[in-house]
Amino acid sequence: MIKLYNTLTKKIEEFKPINDKEIRLYTCGPTVYWFAHIGNLKTYIFEDILRRVLEYNGYKVIHVMNLTDVGHLTSDEDSGEDKLEKGAARENKTVLDIVEFYTKHFIEDINKLNIEFPTNLIKATETIPEQIELIKILEEKGYTYRISDGIYFDTSKLKTYGRLWGDKEKTDFKSRIEENKEKKSPADFALWKFSPKDTKRQMEWASPWGIGFPGWHTECVSIGLKYLGIPFDIHCGGIDHISVHHTNEIAQAEAAYGSILANYWMHGEFLVVKDNKMGKSEGNLVTLKDVKNPLSYRYLCLTAHYKSKLNFTKESLEGANISLNKLRERINELDLNSQDKNPKKKEEYQKQFLEYINNDLDMPKALALTWDLMKDDDLSGNEKYELIQSFDKVFGLSLRQEKQDIPEEIISLVNQRENYRKEKNFEKSDELRKLIEEKGYSIKDEGDSFSIKKEY
Ligand code: AMP
Ligand code: ZN
Repeated sequence: MIKLYNTLTKKIEEFKPINDKEIRLYTCGPTVYWFAHIGNLKTYIFEDILRRVLEYNGYKVIHVMNLTDVGHLTSDEDSGEDKLEKGAARENKTVLDIVEFYTKHFIEDINKLNIEFPTNLIKATETIPEQIELIKILEEKGYTYRISDGIYFDTSKLKTYGRLWGDKEKTDFKSRIEENKEKKSPADFALWKFSPKDTKRQMEWASPWGIGFPGWHTECVSIGLKYLGIPFDIHCGGIDHISVHHTNEIAQAEAAYGSILANYWMHGEFLVVKDNKMGKSEGNLVTLKDVKNPLSYRYLCLTAHYKSKLNFTKESLEGANISLNKLRERINELDLNSQDKNPKKKEEYQKQFLEYINNDLDMPKALALTWDLMKDDDLSGNEKYELIQSFDKVFGLSLRQEKQDIPEEIISLVNQRENYRKEKNFEKSDELRKLIEEKGYSIKDEGDSFSIKKEY
């Protein structure tokens, strides 16, 4: 039995899939106008763990993710500039160039983090006709109104509006100040925005309401419907999507199709820096380029539950890096030719692991269990290795035993450094140590001798 926390019911529930073999999962993807920061990546790692846990339980997962390449305004609440058009102006490029560039970087990032590639990665602009179709249905059913800058969803017409909200979102909503005086309510949101009369947008389409572009909340409903059908099983995103984006996705699906968009809604908590959410407007961004070993960041994310805030510091990342390297070292030392010692105990570990991961993805406990089993003398090296290989299907940390073949180039640098060290030319020897480290290897001096190791 898999138990998952459902934001819709505010409870941990037994997960009951619509189809008993195949699970349909939708995760909101990036707005591709800038590099993903490691906060965004924390959310994608949580979603990857969810997908891997479902697969570990024997399900096939159809995973759809969108790429927002139009319509996401600088404020999530339909005001400000289109982030993509703004990004293009910033870099003096076309929107298409910006989309291509940052999509490529996003894919590189998720590959570096061992995040499984979505079954379908769909750009918002690939479903413009479907989005227009959805808005037409909403219009026919009387859920829309027109103001000077676009067609809006009238939230007062939908009795169930805001069903994803908890107390916090309700309070936030009450304190919202609406800048657009033409809107009937601050909660109402743009379905179709008109292109401004005085400037030419790069991304715009003809529609029954005039030339313009779809609002950000419409794309995920149309992509979900097209690629997964509704309702689908699970919809995920970061915690900031509860109050506006996901609430508005739910509203459109209910109004247009009389159905909940997804049965389970899951949200990952923020990565924070000194109690502030990591974010572009907060000015505290760290990207994966700043992280020497991407999998150590993945390890760090596994040390906290996805529903807990994770405080990011250089030290916490370094700590995760040390732990991961230590784990790899221990794995490398395991004797794979050893005889099985205790199949019953091995099975108990396997059972315990499944219990932890199926309990709302309790990865900190699953990780602690891994360290316990590595220290357990009742198990043989081979038994430990088999367990690690099994657990790593979920961890995704590439925990394999690797023979360390040190390249010629590194050996030569190490020898040069050793000569400097013997000559007591520590300045030169330190320079070479740095160079060797930059190339991904570390040297440990042990009296007169030393050892070289590849860092992961
Ligand atoms: P965006 O590209 O802004 O749509 O964000 C992509 C994903 O990252 C969304 O699921 C957000 O909820 C999530 N996200 C944004 N900031 C953070 C953060 N500091 N920590 C964790 N997730 C975040
Ligand atoms: Zn979405």
